[in-house]
Amino acid sequence: MKGRALPLGVLLALVAGLLSGCEKAPEQAQSTLFAMDTVMTLTVYGDGTSCTGQESLDRNSRLIGQREAELSSTRMESPIYTLNQQGRGELSGDTAELLTSALELCRITGGALDVTAYPAVQAWGFISGDYRVPGAEELSELAENIDYRKVALEAETGMVELPAGVELDLGAVAKGALGDELRVLFQQDGIASALLDLGQSTIVTIGTKPDGTPWRIGVQDPEGEGYLGVLELAGLAVGTSGGYQRYFEQDGQTYWHIIDPATAAPARSGLSSVTVVSSSAFVCDGLSTALFVMGLEDGARFWRAHPELEFEAVFVTENGGIALTAGLEERFTLGRGYEQREVTVIS
Ligand code: AMP
Ligand code: MG
Repeated sequence: MKGRALPLGVLLALVAGLLSGCEKAPEQAQSTLFAMDTVMTLTVYGDGTSCTGQESLDRNSRLIGQREAELSSTRMESPIYTLNQQGRGELSGDTAELLTSALELCRITGGALDVTAYPAVQAWGFISGDYRVPGAEELSELAENIDYRKVALEAETGMVELPAGVELDLGAVAKGALGDELRVLFQQDGIASALLDLGQSTIVTIGTKPDGTPWRIGVQDPEGEGYLGVLELAGLAVGTSGGYQRYFEQDGQTYWHIIDPATAAPARSGLSSVTVVSSSAFVCDGLSTALFVMGLEDGARFWRAHPELEFEAVFVTENGGIALTAGLEERFTLGRGYEQREVTVIS
C-alpha cells in the first residue's frame, strides 16, 4: 500500500485544485460600459483560488446604473431632479449619507467644493450644451445662491429642503463615492487585484497588479494627448479635475465646467488640472474639484492644514509646471517626452 501513496505535494495540489475548481493563474475579467457621461472600464483579477472574476463583475456592475439613476441631477426619474424642481424631497438612505459626507467636505474646503453650484453650471450651458457667457448681474445673482449651508438635510429621514434658487448636484463627488462602493463589493467577493477606471477622472485600485507590482496610473497632460507623468500605486484611488475635461471656447476665451462658487464663473486659479491620491475615492473626487478652485498656493496650504484627510496631490499649473505634495515624490515619474518638465515638491 505504501508504494501507491501519492507524494504530499501532489496531494495538496490536487486538493487545492478541487477546492478552487479552476486554474491557478490570475484570471482577468473586464467590462466596459457607458455611465455618468463617461466610458468606464472595470478590470478585475480572480486570485486563482476562485472563479468569481466575471461573475463578480457582472453582479457588481449593476450598482453603476443604480447610482447613476439615484445621483443624477439631470434625469427626470432621479430624486435629486425632483428635489430641485420642488424645493423639497426625500432622498434614499444611501444618498442622504453621501450628501452628509459631501456637505462636510464643502465645509472643510471652505466652500471651494459646493454642492449647490448647479444653477451656475446650467447657466453656462454645461448641462444643455447651449453654451453661453452670462452677464455680470446674472453671475452675481447666481453666486448669491451658491451656498451649501442652505441645504437643509434631516439625516434620519432623508428629507431635504432647498430655498428658492438653490439646487443640488452631487456630480463632483458621485463617481468617487461609486468607486468606494464598488471597491468594497469586489473585495467582499474575494477580488484582491483590480483596476476600476470610472472614466479617467476617478480610478480605484484594489491591491497590486497580479504580478505584485504597483498599478501605473497616468496623469494626463491637460494641454495635450500624452501623460505628464505616472503614479505608482497599490490599493489607492486617484481623482483628477481639469479644465480640459469639459469646456467651450468663445471669443478666444476658454470656459470650463469647474465653477468658483464665489463668482459663479469658471474657476481661474492658475491651475489646469489637479490629481488627488487617497485611500478614499470620494475624497479624491471631492478634493480634486475643490483644490482646482483653490489654486496652487491655497491648495498647498489646505494640504498642510489637513493631514487627517490623508491625501496627496499633483497640481499642474497653466504654464505647465508640476507640483507634488511630499508623499508622492517617490511614486511619481515624469512621462516620456516630459522629462524636462520642472517638478517642485510641496512640503
Ligand atoms: P469634477 O469633474 O469631479 O471636478 O466635478 C465637476 C462637476 O461638478 C461639474 O461638471 C459640475 O457639474 C459640478 N461642479 C462644478 N464646480 C463645482 C464646485 N465648485 N463644487 C461642486 N461641484 C461643482
Ligand atoms: Mg470631483
